[in-house]
Amino acid sequence: MKTVQLHDLTFEKCISKTQVQQAVNGVAVRLNDDYRGKRPVFLTVLNGAFLFGAELIKKFDSECELSFIKVASYDGTEQRDEIYTVMGAEPSLKGRDVIVVEDIVDSGNTIDTIIQILKDEDVASYTIASLFYKPAAYRKSHKIDYIGLEIENDFVVGFGLDYNGLGRNLTSIYKLKQHTMKNLVLFGPPGAGKGTQAEVLKEKYNLVHISTGDVFRYNIKNGTDLGTLAKSYIDKGQLVPDTVTIDMLNAEVEKNAQAQGFIFDGFPRTEAQAVALAALLESKGTEVAAMVALEVDDEVLVKRLLERGKTSGRPDDADEDVIRNRIKVYYAETAILKDFYEKQDKYYGVNGVGSVDEITERLSTVIDTL
Ligand code: AMP
Repeated sequence: MKTVQLHDLTFEKCISKTQVQQAVNGVAVRLNDDYRGKRPVFLTVLNGAFLFGAELIKKFDSECELSFIKVASYDGTEQRDEIYTVMGAEPSLKGRDVIVVEDIVDSGNTIDTIIQILKDEDVASYTIASLFYKPAAYRKSHKIDYIGLEIENDFVVGFGLDYNGLGRNLTSIYKLKQHTMKNLVLFGPPGAGKGTQAEVLKEKYNLVHISTGDVFRYNIKNGTDLGTLAKSYIDKGQLVPDTVTIDMLNAEVEKNAQAQGFIFDGFPRTEAQAVALAALLESKGTEVAAMVALEVDDEVLVKRLLERGKTSGRPDDADEDVIRNRIKVYYAETAILKDFYEKQDKYYGVNGVGSVDEITERLSTVIDTL
Protein backbone atom coordinates (compact mmCIF):
# COMPACT_ATOMS: atom_id res chain seq x y z
CA MET A 1 0.00 0.00 0.00
CA LYS A 2 1.55 3.26 -1.12
CA THR A 3 -1.15 5.47 0.37
CA VAL A 4 -3.81 5.05 3.05
CA GLN A 5 -6.91 7.09 3.76
CA LEU A 6 -7.59 7.83 7.44
CA HIS A 7 -10.74 9.81 8.13
CA ASP A 8 -10.51 12.81 5.78
CA LEU A 9 -6.77 12.69 5.12
CA THR A 10 -4.49 10.79 2.77
CA PHE A 11 -1.13 9.51 3.99
CA GLU A 12 1.74 8.21 1.86
CA LYS A 13 4.32 5.62 2.84
CA CYS A 14 7.61 7.14 3.95
CA ILE A 15 9.37 4.53 6.13
CA SER A 16 9.20 0.81 5.31
CA LYS A 17 8.46 -1.99 7.74
CA THR A 18 12.11 -3.12 7.42
CA GLN A 19 13.42 0.34 8.28
CA VAL A 20 11.16 0.43 11.33
CA GLN A 21 12.47 -2.97 12.46
CA GLN A 22 16.07 -1.81 11.96
CA ALA A 23 15.36 1.30 14.04
CA VAL A 24 13.89 -0.84 16.84
CA ASN A 25 16.85 -3.25 16.69
CA GLY A 26 19.35 -0.38 16.86
CA VAL A 27 17.80 0.92 20.08
CA ALA A 28 17.50 -2.61 21.55
CA VAL A 29 21.18 -3.38 20.95
CA ARG A 30 22.27 -0.22 22.76
CA LEU A 31 19.88 -0.79 25.67
CA ASN A 32 21.19 -4.35 26.08
CA ASP A 33 24.74 -2.98 26.30
CA ASP A 34 23.95 -0.14 28.67
CA TYR A 35 21.57 -1.95 31.04
CA ARG A 36 23.20 -5.36 31.27
CA GLY A 37 22.53 -6.78 34.78
CA LYS A 38 20.65 -3.67 35.94
CA ARG A 39 16.94 -4.69 35.95
CA PRO A 40 15.45 -1.46 34.58
CA VAL A 41 11.78 -0.54 34.40
CA PHE A 42 10.53 0.08 30.87
CA LEU A 43 8.02 2.93 31.26
CA THR A 44 5.98 2.93 28.07
CA VAL A 45 4.04 6.08 27.23
CA LEU A 46 0.52 5.13 26.13
CA ASN A 47 -1.07 4.81 23.69
CA GLY A 48 1.34 5.38 20.83
CA ALA A 49 4.45 3.65 22.21
CA PHE A 50 2.80 0.34 23.06
CA LEU A 51 4.17 -1.46 19.96
CA PHE A 52 7.68 -0.05 20.27
CA GLY A 53 7.66 -0.95 23.98
CA ALA A 54 6.55 -4.50 23.20
CA GLU A 55 9.26 -4.95 20.56
CA LEU A 56 11.99 -3.59 22.82
CA ILE A 57 11.06 -5.87 25.71
CA LYS A 58 11.16 -8.92 23.43
CA LYS A 59 14.69 -8.03 22.37
CA PHE A 60 15.95 -7.19 25.87
CA ASP A 61 18.18 -9.93 27.34
CA SER A 62 18.49 -8.99 31.04
CA GLU A 63 15.81 -8.93 33.72
CA CYS A 64 13.42 -6.04 33.41
CA GLU A 65 10.03 -4.81 34.57
CA LEU A 66 7.22 -3.01 32.86
CA SER A 67 5.12 -0.03 33.65
CA PHE A 68 2.89 2.36 31.73
CA ILE A 69 2.01 6.00 31.90
CA LYS A 70 -0.61 7.96 30.02
CA VAL A 71 -0.66 11.72 29.65
CA ALA A 72 -2.82 14.05 27.62
CA SER A 73 -2.84 17.68 26.62
CA TYR A 74 -5.60 20.06 27.53
CA ASP A 75 -8.16 20.55 24.82
CA GLY A 76 -8.58 24.30 25.19
CA THR A 77 -6.47 25.98 22.56
CA GLU A 78 -4.90 28.40 25.00
CA GLN A 79 -3.50 25.61 27.12
CA ARG A 80 -2.49 23.34 24.30
CA ASP A 81 1.03 23.07 25.64
CA GLU A 82 -0.01 21.94 29.11
CA ILE A 83 -0.02 18.25 29.79
CA TYR A 84 -1.62 16.31 32.62
CA THR A 85 -1.40 12.71 33.83
CA VAL A 86 -4.30 10.45 32.89
CA MET A 87 -2.77 7.27 34.29
CA GLY A 88 0.28 7.25 36.54
CA ALA A 89 3.03 4.63 36.75
CA GLU A 90 2.34 1.70 39.11
CA PRO A 91 3.98 0.54 41.37
CA SER A 92 6.19 3.39 42.54
CA LEU A 93 9.32 4.07 40.51
CA LYS A 94 11.25 5.38 43.51
CA GLY A 95 14.88 4.33 43.38
CA ARG A 96 14.48 2.55 40.03
CA ASP A 97 16.43 2.82 36.78
CA VAL A 98 13.76 3.91 34.33
CA ILE A 99 13.79 3.73 30.54
CA VAL A 100 11.04 5.97 29.17
CA VAL A 101 9.73 4.44 25.94
CA GLU A 102 8.20 6.95 23.53
CA ASP A 103 6.92 6.48 20.00
CA ILE A 104 7.86 9.99 18.89
CA VAL A 105 9.46 13.08 20.36
CA ASP A 106 8.03 16.11 18.65
CA SER A 107 7.94 19.45 20.53
CA GLY A 108 9.16 17.66 23.67
CA ASN A 109 6.22 18.75 25.87
CA THR A 110 5.24 15.21 26.82
CA ILE A 111 8.79 14.17 27.61
CA ASP A 112 9.23 17.30 29.68
CA THR A 113 6.19 16.43 31.79
CA ILE A 114 7.25 12.83 32.24
CA ILE A 115 10.75 13.80 33.32
CA GLN A 116 9.23 16.06 35.97
CA ILE A 117 7.09 13.15 37.18
CA LEU A 118 10.19 10.91 37.39
CA LYS A 119 12.08 13.54 39.37
CA ASP A 120 9.14 13.90 41.76
CA GLU A 121 9.08 10.12 42.15
CA ASP A 122 12.77 10.16 43.09
CA VAL A 123 13.94 7.59 40.54
CA ALA A 124 17.58 6.45 40.65
CA SER A 125 18.14 7.21 36.95
CA TYR A 126 16.24 7.73 33.74
CA THR A 127 16.91 7.63 30.05
CA ILE A 128 14.63 8.27 27.09
CA ALA A 129 14.22 5.90 24.18
CA SER A 130 12.14 7.17 21.28
CA LEU A 131 11.43 5.34 18.06
CA PHE A 132 11.18 8.63 16.16
CA TYR A 133 12.59 12.06 16.83
CA LYS A 134 11.86 15.30 14.99
CA PRO A 135 14.86 17.59 15.53
CA ALA A 136 13.16 20.45 13.65
CA ALA A 137 10.19 20.44 16.04
CA TYR A 138 12.01 19.79 19.34
CA ARG A 139 11.86 22.81 21.67
CA LYS A 140 13.29 21.38 24.90
CA SER A 141 16.79 20.70 26.12
CA HIS A 142 16.67 17.17 27.56
CA LYS A 143 18.82 14.75 25.69
CA ILE A 144 16.98 11.96 23.90
CA ASP A 145 19.32 9.09 24.78
CA TYR A 146 18.19 6.42 22.33
CA ILE A 147 16.74 7.41 18.97
CA GLY A 148 15.44 4.89 16.46
CA LEU A 149 15.20 7.29 13.53
CA GLU A 150 15.38 11.03 13.07
CA ILE A 151 12.58 12.18 10.80
CA GLU A 152 11.45 15.34 9.04
CA ASN A 153 8.84 17.57 10.60
CA ASP A 154 5.94 15.64 9.01
CA PHE A 155 2.77 14.36 10.61
CA VAL A 156 3.23 10.57 10.67
CA VAL A 157 1.10 7.53 11.49
CA GLY A 158 1.71 3.79 11.80
CA PHE A 159 3.44 1.40 14.21
CA GLY A 160 1.42 2.70 17.15
CA LEU A 161 1.06 6.30 15.98
CA ASP A 162 -2.41 7.48 15.05
CA TYR A 163 -4.46 10.18 13.42
CA ASN A 164 -7.62 10.61 15.49
CA GLY A 165 -7.47 7.01 16.69
CA LEU A 166 -6.73 5.36 13.33
CA GLY A 167 -3.52 4.04 11.76
CA ARG A 168 -1.88 2.46 14.81
CA ASN A 169 -1.99 -1.01 13.24
CA LEU A 170 -0.01 -0.04 10.13
CA THR A 171 3.39 -1.76 10.12
CA SER A 172 5.07 0.87 7.93
CA ILE A 173 5.10 4.61 8.58
CA TYR A 174 2.99 6.97 6.52
CA LYS A 175 3.19 10.75 6.38
CA LEU A 176 0.47 13.24 5.60
CA LYS A 177 0.30 13.66 1.87
CA GLN A 178 0.82 17.26 0.88
CA HIS A 179 -2.04 17.90 -1.48
CA THR A 180 -1.27 19.76 -4.60
CA MET A 181 -4.57 21.46 -3.91
CA LYS A 182 -5.20 24.72 -5.67
CA ASN A 183 -7.29 26.92 -3.39
CA LEU A 184 -8.37 30.21 -4.83
CA VAL A 185 -10.08 33.13 -3.20
CA LEU A 186 -12.13 34.89 -5.84
CA PHE A 187 -12.40 38.44 -4.69
CA GLY A 188 -14.10 41.64 -5.66
CA PRO A 189 -17.07 43.83 -4.77
CA PRO A 190 -20.66 42.64 -5.19
CA GLY A 191 -21.50 42.46 -8.87
CA ALA A 192 -17.88 42.05 -9.99
CA GLY A 193 -18.75 38.74 -11.66
CA LYS A 194 -17.30 36.32 -9.11
CA GLY A 195 -20.18 33.85 -9.36
CA THR A 196 -20.12 33.78 -13.17
CA GLN A 197 -16.37 33.27 -13.32
CA ALA A 198 -16.39 30.68 -10.54
CA GLU A 199 -18.81 28.53 -12.56
CA VAL A 200 -16.39 28.51 -15.50
CA LEU A 201 -13.19 28.11 -13.47
CA LYS A 202 -14.47 25.23 -11.35
CA GLU A 203 -14.95 23.13 -14.52
CA LYS A 204 -11.69 24.22 -16.07
CA TYR A 205 -9.54 23.48 -12.99
CA ASN A 206 -11.67 20.75 -11.39
CA LEU A 207 -12.27 22.71 -8.20
CA VAL A 208 -15.17 22.80 -5.76
CA HIS A 209 -16.95 26.15 -5.78
CA ILE A 210 -18.16 27.41 -2.40
CA SER A 211 -20.19 30.60 -2.47
CA THR A 212 -21.14 31.63 1.05
CA GLY A 213 -23.88 33.87 -0.38
CA ASP A 214 -25.38 30.87 -2.23
CA VAL A 215 -25.24 28.71 0.90
CA PHE A 216 -27.03 31.42 2.89
CA ARG A 217 -29.68 31.80 0.19
CA TYR A 218 -30.18 28.02 0.09
CA ASN A 219 -30.75 28.09 3.85
CA ILE A 220 -33.15 31.01 3.59
CA LYS A 221 -35.14 29.18 0.90
CA ASN A 222 -35.34 26.08 3.07
CA GLY A 223 -36.35 28.02 6.17
CA THR A 224 -33.49 26.75 8.37
CA ASP A 225 -32.45 28.53 11.58
CA LEU A 226 -29.25 29.59 9.84
CA GLY A 227 -31.32 31.01 6.98
CA THR A 228 -33.56 33.02 9.31
CA LEU A 229 -30.56 34.46 11.10
CA ALA A 230 -28.67 35.27 7.89
CA LYS A 231 -31.72 36.90 6.27
CA SER A 232 -31.86 39.62 8.90
CA TYR A 233 -28.38 40.76 7.84
CA ILE A 234 -28.52 40.03 4.12
CA ASP A 235 -31.73 42.04 3.60
CA LYS A 236 -29.93 45.11 4.89
CA GLY A 237 -26.77 44.47 2.88
CA GLN A 238 -24.78 43.82 6.07
CA LEU A 239 -22.36 40.98 6.77
CA VAL A 240 -23.54 37.90 8.64
CA PRO A 241 -21.50 37.59 11.90
CA ASP A 242 -18.10 35.91 11.54
CA THR A 243 -18.71 33.01 13.91
CA VAL A 244 -21.81 31.92 11.99
CA THR A 245 -20.15 32.31 8.60
CA ILE A 246 -16.90 30.60 9.62
CA ASP A 247 -18.73 27.58 11.08
CA MET A 248 -20.76 27.28 7.93
CA LEU A 249 -17.69 27.52 5.68
CA ASN A 250 -15.85 24.88 7.73
CA ALA A 251 -18.80 22.52 7.33
CA GLU A 252 -18.89 23.10 3.55
CA VAL A 253 -15.17 22.33 3.25
CA GLU A 254 -15.53 19.18 5.39
CA LYS A 255 -18.33 17.98 3.09
CA ASN A 256 -15.83 18.04 0.21
CA ALA A 257 -12.82 16.43 1.88
CA GLN A 258 -11.69 14.77 -1.36
CA ALA A 259 -11.63 17.99 -3.39
CA GLN A 260 -8.57 18.85 -5.47
CA GLY A 261 -9.03 22.45 -4.42
CA PHE A 262 -11.63 25.11 -3.77
CA ILE A 263 -12.80 28.36 -5.23
CA PHE A 264 -13.96 30.48 -2.34
CA ASP A 265 -16.45 33.03 -3.60
CA GLY A 266 -17.65 35.64 -1.14
CA PHE A 267 -15.36 34.29 1.56
CA PRO A 268 -13.31 35.52 3.37
CA ARG A 269 -14.87 38.96 3.79
CA THR A 270 -13.16 39.93 7.06
CA GLU A 271 -9.70 39.42 8.48
CA ALA A 272 -11.09 37.01 11.10
CA GLN A 273 -12.52 34.92 8.28
CA ALA A 274 -9.19 34.99 6.42
CA VAL A 275 -7.35 33.83 9.55
CA ALA A 276 -9.91 31.06 10.10
CA LEU A 277 -9.57 29.95 6.48
CA ALA A 278 -5.77 29.77 6.77
CA ALA A 279 -6.08 27.61 9.91
CA LEU A 280 -8.63 25.32 8.30
CA LEU A 281 -6.52 24.77 5.19
CA GLU A 282 -3.36 24.33 7.23
CA SER A 283 -5.05 21.53 9.16
CA LYS A 284 -5.53 19.84 5.77
CA GLY A 285 -1.88 20.32 4.85
CA THR A 286 -2.67 23.02 2.29
CA GLU A 287 -3.16 26.79 1.96
CA VAL A 288 -4.69 29.58 -0.10
CA ALA A 289 -2.71 29.69 -3.35
CA ALA A 290 -3.94 33.10 -4.42
CA MET A 291 -6.53 35.78 -4.06
CA VAL A 292 -7.64 36.78 -7.55
CA ALA A 293 -9.60 39.98 -7.50
CA LEU A 294 -11.96 41.28 -10.16
CA GLU A 295 -11.57 45.04 -10.29
CA VAL A 296 -14.67 46.92 -11.41
CA ASP A 297 -15.75 50.54 -11.05
CA ASP A 298 -18.52 51.28 -8.49
CA GLU A 299 -20.98 52.80 -10.95
CA VAL A 300 -20.58 49.82 -13.28
CA LEU A 301 -21.32 47.59 -10.27
CA VAL A 302 -24.53 49.42 -9.35
CA LYS A 303 -25.76 49.24 -12.96
CA ARG A 304 -24.89 45.55 -13.25
CA LEU A 305 -26.61 44.64 -9.97
CA LEU A 306 -29.79 46.57 -10.78
CA GLU A 307 -29.85 44.79 -14.13
CA ARG A 308 -29.27 41.42 -12.43
CA GLY A 309 -32.04 42.25 -9.91
CA LYS A 310 -34.62 42.16 -12.70
CA THR A 311 -34.12 38.40 -13.08
CA SER A 312 -32.12 37.08 -10.10
CA GLY A 313 -35.05 37.20 -7.68
CA ARG A 314 -32.60 38.49 -5.04
CA PRO A 315 -34.18 41.24 -2.93
CA ASP A 316 -30.69 42.59 -2.14
CA ASP A 317 -30.16 43.19 -5.90
CA ALA A 318 -33.46 45.05 -6.41
CA ASP A 319 -32.96 48.03 -4.12
CA GLU A 320 -30.33 50.61 -5.03
CA ASP A 321 -29.82 51.64 -1.38
CA VAL A 322 -29.10 48.07 -0.35
CA ILE A 323 -26.73 47.67 -3.31
CA ARG A 324 -24.85 50.83 -2.38
CA ASN A 325 -24.67 49.63 1.21
CA ARG A 326 -23.20 46.29 0.10
CA ILE A 327 -20.52 48.12 -1.87
CA LYS A 328 -19.88 50.41 1.11
CA VAL A 329 -19.54 47.40 3.42
CA TYR A 330 -17.12 45.87 0.92
CA TYR A 331 -14.82 48.89 1.09
CA ALA A 332 -15.19 49.32 4.85
CA GLU A 333 -14.80 45.71 5.96
CA THR A 334 -13.62 43.52 3.11
CA ALA A 335 -11.21 45.49 0.95
CA ILE A 336 -8.56 45.29 3.72
CA LEU A 337 -8.11 41.66 2.75
CA LYS A 338 -6.20 42.90 -0.27
CA ASP A 339 -3.45 43.93 2.19
CA PHE A 340 -3.75 40.66 4.05
CA TYR A 341 -2.97 38.61 0.92
CA GLU A 342 -0.63 41.17 -0.62
CA LYS A 343 1.63 40.80 2.43
CA GLN A 344 1.84 37.09 1.62
CA ASP A 345 2.51 37.81 -2.07
CA LYS A 346 -0.76 36.17 -2.99
CA TYR A 347 -2.82 39.05 -4.34
CA TYR A 348 -3.54 39.28 -8.07
CA GLY A 349 -5.78 42.03 -9.43
CA VAL A 350 -7.53 41.44 -12.74
CA ASN A 351 -9.58 43.88 -14.83
CA GLY A 352 -13.18 42.72 -14.35
CA VAL A 353 -14.71 44.69 -17.22
CA GLY A 354 -15.16 42.90 -20.56
CA SER A 355 -16.85 39.78 -21.91
CA VAL A 356 -17.10 36.64 -19.74
CA ASP A 357 -14.54 34.90 -21.97
CA GLU A 358 -12.11 37.78 -21.86
CA ILE A 359 -12.22 37.88 -18.08
CA THR A 360 -11.85 34.09 -17.80
CA GLU A 361 -8.78 34.38 -20.01
CA ARG A 362 -7.26 37.03 -17.72
CA LEU A 363 -7.98 34.95 -14.62
CA SER A 364 -6.56 31.79 -16.20
CA THR A 365 -3.32 33.56 -17.03
CA VAL A 366 -2.87 34.19 -13.31
CA ILE A 367 -4.04 30.75 -12.15
CA ASP A 368 -1.78 28.91 -14.59
CA THR A 369 1.29 30.51 -13.03
CA LEU A 370 0.43 29.29 -9.51
P1 AMP B 1 -23.01 37.42 -2.05
O1 AMP B 1 -23.88 36.43 -2.73
O2 AMP B 1 -21.58 36.95 -1.92
O3 AMP B 1 -23.11 38.79 -2.61
O4 AMP B 1 -23.54 37.53 -0.52
C1 AMP B 1 -24.82 38.00 -0.21
C2 AMP B 1 -24.91 38.37 1.25
O5 AMP B 1 -24.65 37.20 2.05
C3 AMP B 1 -23.90 39.40 1.73
O6 AMP B 1 -24.32 40.72 1.48
C4 AMP B 1 -23.83 39.07 3.23
O7 AMP B 1 -24.94 39.57 3.90
C5 AMP B 1 -23.94 37.55 3.24
N1 AMP B 1 -22.59 36.93 3.15
C6 AMP B 1 -22.08 36.19 2.13
N2 AMP B 1 -20.83 35.78 2.40
C7 AMP B 1 -20.51 36.31 3.60
C8 AMP B 1 -19.34 36.30 4.40
N3 AMP B 1 -18.22 35.67 4.01
N4 AMP B 1 -19.38 36.94 5.60
C9 AMP B 1 -20.49 37.57 6.00
N5 AMP B 1 -21.61 37.66 5.28
C10 AMP B 1 -21.65 37.05 4.09
